[in-house]
Amino acid sequence: YLNMQAIISAAEVCGVDAIHPGVGFLAENAKFAEMVEDHGITFIGPTPEHIVLMGDKISAKDTVQRLGIPVVPGSNGEVRDLEDAQRLGEAIGYPVLIKAAAGGGGKGMKVAQSADKLEEAYRFARTEAKACFGNDQVYMEKYLGQPRHIEMQILADTHGNAIHLCERDCSIQRNHQKVWEEAPSPVITDEKRKELGDIVAKAISTLGYRGAGTIEFLYENGEFYFIEMNTRIQVEHPITEMITGVDIVREQIRIAAGEKLSLTQDDVKIRGHAIECRVN
Ligand code: ADP
Repeated sequence: YLNMQAIISAAEVCGVDAIHPGVGFLAENAKFAEMVEDHGITFIGPTPEHIVLMGDKISAKDTVQRLGIPVVPGSNGEVRDLEDAQRLGEAIGYPVLIKAAAGGGGKGMKVAQSADKLEEAYRFARTEAKACFGNDQVYMEKYLGQPRHIEMQILADTHGNAIHLCERDCSIQRNHQKVWEEAPSPVITDEKRKELGDIVAKAISTLGYRGAGTIEFLYENGEFYFIEMNTRIQVEHPITEMITGVDIVREQIRIAAGEKLSLTQDDVKIRGHAIECRVN
């Protein structure tokens, strides 16, 4: 399942029209998306360009900020060396978080509670980022004290239509990794949902994004701050399907086939509450 050539060969032998990359591994691999399309097979997902853009958290933050989405205050780009980190730490105010540009799964992330802890955190994040992702580029963010993790499921077709399917609350975590996911969030009001949903749908449409995706935010004191975007469906997507009745994979396939979304924002209604737990 990780051997791209073997997958393409199997697809050619079977004469498939399209490949759905699933929820992990190859789903956010631009090279795989490119390979699929180069072989005349439809990739059920975004364009390779959007995968690359959002796969680098520094360029992702920069892009969404330009599209009017609020981001966590931070370095606005790469932190190049320790002196740079120290200068930024003073400017942002402690505690700060050093994060890997290529990060995922809570790896390559370290908090510095105060200036005297910065060097250790900086070196740790760089080393772990290099070991996990082969890329030691890091950036810095203000470390929020008690944020909730709120993420918006989005869908966009190739006709300029973009909608959101409400939020998921993934605040219960272990080592910065989600353990418990629920939809809708118990703390987001209808007004807040609409406020964030409208911003997100508009940004996605302006970007010309295609397919399903998730835009992740930290939520504290009534404010949303973007942290990253996943350009795939995630393992927790079924809880969104349960409360909205929308089959997200079916919409992905329709979008890849060049069809329009089968529903508008007004058709999206929330019914009930769904929870998913991961076993660690
Ligand atoms: P990854 O891609 O490794 O999952 P994220 O950027 O999505 O990393 O962050 C994962 C989790 O780490 C968040 O849900 C949150 O709990 C915590 N986190 C990330 N950035 C911050 C921040 N600036 N302040 C406080 N917590 C953060």
